Amino acid sequence: MTAFSTPNRRVTPTVSVGGVRIGGGAPVVVQSMTNTDTADVAATVKQVAELARAGSELVRITVNNEAAARAVPAIREALDGQGLDVPLIGDFHFNGHRLLTDYPACAQALAKYRINPGNVGRGERRDTQFATLIELALRYDRPVRIGVNWGSLDPELVARLMDANARLARPEPVQEVTYEAMVQSALDSARQAEAIGLPADRIVLSCKMSGVQDLITVYRRLAARSPFALHLGLTEAGMGAKGIVASTAALAVLLQEGIGDTIRVSLTPEPGAPRQREVEVAQEILQAMELRAFAPQVTACPGCGRTTSTAFQQLALDVQNHLRQRLPEWRQRYPGVETLRVAVMGCVVNGPGESKNADIGISLPGNGERPAAPVFIEGRKVATLKGEGIAEAFVQMVDRYVRERYSRS
Ligand code: SF4
Repeated sequence: MTAFSTPNRRVTPTVSVGGVRIGGGAPVVVQSMTNTDTADVAATVKQVAELARAGSELVRITVNNEAAARAVPAIREALDGQGLDVPLIGDFHFNGHRLLTDYPACAQALAKYRINPGNVGRGERRDTQFATLIELALRYDRPVRIGVNWGSLDPELVARLMDANARLARPEPVQEVTYEAMVQSALDSARQAEAIGLPADRIVLSCKMSGVQDLITVYRRLAARSPFALHLGLTEAGMGAKGIVASTAALAVLLQEGIGDTIRVSLTPEPGAPRQREVEVAQEILQAMELRAFAPQVTACPGCGRTTSTAFQQLALDVQNHLRQRLPEWRQRYPGVETLRVAVMGCVVNGPGESKNADIGISLPGNGERPAAPVFIEGRKVATLKGEGIAEAFVQMVDRYVRERYSRS
């Protein structure tokens, strides 16, 4: 994987999560979360492995009860047995202080603990239980994510802020108070953790909401008021295109402003759809933003009345599939191949121009054009393909280009 420079990235301490660096200028990290019952070791290992192989650099699992806590070391061991060293993050709510105390092997097997300050405990117990979690992180030398979620905001903090707001001569709208409660919950908890002894390079913050504009507003404020590395994501992005578009819209704005050190795309999978879709979408966002490169990109035109044939759609699909198939091997043999840009275009209108801008591109003939397809490499026309077998010939040219260019680098 290739990371591009990001000159406007917010400067934060570097947090190491099982060797994966978050913040401090490191490439934005992709993470995901399982939806299996963690106590089901086989199912959880299978899904973590799928997510890791899809490119998830960290995987979070829920640790919600004793059976789950008991299963965590076995999950870690099974993954190690498969040669998968992806760090596991434990997601704790309500009983994390107890589970991590009672199951030291679980605490040891996890690379980071996620704590939701709204779900640590109520009243006086809240502070002691939070302190226990931080002391455990210190004992096991682990970082924590203080993950505020607007669906489980600390009710005592919200009540306090609402009361104070109501006493103002001109009270702020409720939405403003909610934003402030999100940011304060994260910052107050981070300060508490630091007071107990957890250094800033072991703290990641998040303030997840499900509305795009809400998320952007809250993260801008959090980034302006905090030095910590930030985890970005909508809390419930939704299903299908809605979830992908909402996540992309929110994350793109913040990443463009240099905000965000690790991302998760919280898609609700459609029945039967693979969980790893969220990893692909996260990678696509980072690659589209030119923050990282994970896989060669194919630029294809949408087609229009100038080309009634589906030949170019088929070629674009064939090329895309071919690149996907070859990528695992290419990654080993040809470092940097993730940055390859291929164009497959439908006619002479934009075909030659777009093909010249790609590393290698082909412009197929549209309606009424001579049945010939010029191929461009690094801006120069190198061949004209004709007749049957254009697709195969072009794919062979792509293979040759990859061999020659990336062996060089
Ligand atoms: S490149 Fe040609 S075929 Fe493709 S969308 Fe543009 S005009 Fe239509």
